[in-house]
Amino acid sequence: MLINPVTPDIFQIQIPLPFALRIVNCYLVRGDAGWTVVDSGLNTSKARAAWQEAFAELGIRPREIEQIILTHIHPDHYGLAGWLVEWCVADGGQLPPVRLSAREAEIAARFWSRDVWQQPTYTAFWQQCAVPTDLAQAILETTEQTRQRTYPHPTTHDIIEPGVPIRLGNRIMQPLLMPGHSDGQLVFYNAADRLLLCGDHVLPTITPNISLWPDGEANPLGRYLASLDELARLDVRLALPGHGPVMVDGELHGRITQIAHHHHERLAQTEAALPQPSTVYEVSQRLFNHASLSVHEMRFAATETLAHLDYLVRHGRARRHEEAVWWFEGNRP
Ligand SMILES: [Zn+2]
Repeated sequence: MLINPVTPDIFQIQIPLPFALRIVNCYLVRGDAGWTVVDSGLNTSKARAAWQEAFAELGIRPREIEQIILTHIHPDHYGLAGWLVEWCVADGGQLPPVRLSAREAEIAARFWSRDVWQQPTYTAFWQQCAVPTDLAQAILETTEQTRQRTYPHPTTHDIIEPGVPIRLGNRIMQPLLMPGHSDGQLVFYNAADRLLLCGDHVLPTITPNISLWPDGEANPLGRYLASLDELARLDVRLALPGHGPVMVDGELHGRITQIAHHHHERLAQTEAALPQPSTVYEVSQRLFNHASLSVHEMRFAATETLAHLDYLVRHGRARRHEEAVWWFEGNRP
């Protein structure tokens, strides 16, 4: 189903993705001043058609878009923001602001920009991870394909300050910074309704990818686990994720516990996957069944392995030797 009404004023819009993930959940929030769009999809003809269908079915004109809010700038959330802005303006609407955290705006400008595309940085990074050259090349090519699907980019951004309440539709919500899956991911919380828009911070059916990137902030897994703890303190009745079904009552908290447990288990497996000094790629081969992974998924397998290795080093459970290639060695006798 394409449109899923989750409250009288919030509709979940399921936008198709050309990945195994299949769907990104975006949200439309109705308000007196117009409609707030939360997250956008990747720029493909199917995704644009899904938005057109959803607007037609709900009887909304594109000019009624009041603002676009992005939880984070991963391509499946960011990719159609610029198109939605243009669609609104072409229909006679005011230029709707695109709102996101300062850190996400910075990453979008650098990572998705045609001019500042950092291929040399990434080529060196895959070499340090000892990813074979042909796979590294294939990864760069699929990343470039994805980058093409983030155009057009929004021309201006409005920065959301974590902790400073913001209006979505007619509801005031608290933006909270939840780093880990992305450095500057925001979730939006309304205590009175015990309602949370949780982006990809907690997902009901898959574990959000936690990766260490060459230009990302340090210690992503540590930051992620800390922000999961912070989220666990909120009283939430209805949580609206970026992928998968909505979580009601205790489901969010159950899922937080499961995901934290998964990472601790994964850390133990990573530690056990260091019988001798090993490269990131070698460890990822021991942790993931590479034969079953697409190029896109292999990229995440390597960077997620690196995030776990980095966490072990920070906690004295492994050592890292930085040569042309990074070597990791276990600390267990
Ligand atoms: Zn996502």
